[in-house]
Amino acid sequence: RPLLARQNWMLQCRSLLERNSDLMLQLVSCRWRPAASGDSAEIRFDTQQSFEHQLRASAPADALIGKLLDDQFVIVSQNKKHLSEKWVRSHDDDTSFLWTAFLSTPVPLHSYDELGEALQHCVREIERSRMMCSRIGGRSLTADESVVVKDLIRALRNKEFYLEFQPQFDSHTATIVGAEALLRWLHPELGMVPPTAFIRDAEMAGLIRTLGSWALRETLRVWHILNDRGINIRMAVNVSFPEVADPDYADKVLDLLDETGVPAASLELELTETAMMLDASVSLNNLNRLKLAGVRIVLDDFGTGFSSLSHLSDLPITGIKLDRAFVTPLNHDDENSAQRHIVATMLDLSKRLKLETTAEGIEDQSCLEVIHSLGCDRVQGYFYAQPMSVDKLIERACVQESVLVDYASGQQSLF
Ligand code: C2E
Ligand code: MG
Ligand code: MG
Repeated sequence: RPLLARQNWMLQCRSLLERNSDLMLQLVSCRWRPAASGDSAEIRFDTQQSFEHQLRASAPADALIGKLLDDQFVIVSQNKKHLSEKWVRSHDDDTSFLWTAFLSTPVPLHSYDELGEALQHCVREIERSRMMCSRIGGRSLTADESVVVKDLIRALRNKEFYLEFQPQFDSHTATIVGAEALLRWLHPELGMVPPTAFIRDAEMAGLIRTLGSWALRETLRVWHILNDRGINIRMAVNVSFPEVADPDYADKVLDLLDETGVPAASLELELTETAMMLDASVSLNNLNRLKLAGVRIVLDDFGTGFSSLSHLSDLPITGIKLDRAFVTPLNHDDENSAQRHIVATMLDLSKRLKLETTAEGIEDQSCLEVIHSLGCDRVQGYFYAQPMSVDKLIERACVQESVLVDYASGQQSLF
């Protein structure tokens, strides 16, 4: 089946429209992913050919397929059901494929006065989803970035990633009640690379789902190690937008909990507001299902989002985590500062909505005391503990036990 050039496709489509009133139109857009072995013209050509082959092979039998641009295709067909299914695989988490595909929602051509109008509608929708992905990932990569991507693929294969855990404390008793898993990359030449330097690249390269599911599995394994030592705490894992935008995400997490035997209530997923709101119907559905199953869902970096306060009550969350930009500067001397009022208001609102509150970025005693006085439930920060290995976490939790014994006998203050 040929891929028709734009003009030819428009002509044939118009004549089809005269005979047929229930045609659907859909746009398919593609992002090419750089090859691990370099990004030569031949590889690019082969990738495009193989994408076009898949498009022709999986389109509905009656489809009229047009090629608008090198990476943009348009389909008309009567087969609404076929077009409504994900008939082109997006391959956004499979690095052996060198493309990521975007499909617009199919629209009925008869609801538009003009073919061009329907096309415009689909182009806008696709551009929106490509743009969302380019903020989070998905835009085409520069040469420098493609080097990083090759590095990431090697790192995954060579198991260069590992997790550190930063304890979270009950702000009233100062006991460890949770730990946040934080991804680290031990690069063979660069040494330890922090997640801020590579998470975005991993999202962009379509590798974050692989990395995220590894981090989740590893965290649940660590939960068992701690549990075997009598340390029963909640484990928090950071989740990126492409993970929660996967329609199977909730099933994957619930299956993993089942398989590992970790109670749902011992797992906490940390997401930013952007991650929750992009592709909202899919991600909110996933989060609702997980919350219903007992998994804790926390809004990370709270206060930095764009519409935080107004729709806080609509989000399927069990808690909020104040961004450290609000927390770290707090101190005794700022009683009437705007900063303190903002934090107090955010905590107050969260409490009214029955959300558990955590403050991250506690770096000194003064900040801790302010946060404590504002009634925050949990605290996390360098003042208490930096992210650490599992062994160190176990050691720390055991030391805590003896401190508590001292505290109980009145010899030690917790704050
Ligand atoms: P985040 O989830 O907001 O994590 C908290 C970050 O603040 C961590 O940085 C932590 O080390 C740091 N931090 C904690 N307490 C303090 C403090 O008192 N002072 C200061 N200055 N910093 C503190 P890290 O480990 O570099 O992580 C940065 C971000 O990378 C995380 O922000 C999270 O968004 C992302 N990230 C980390 N691991 C993962 C992961 O497994 N998956 C995904 N998707 N993202 C991850
Ligand atoms: Mg976090
Ligand atoms: Mg945060």
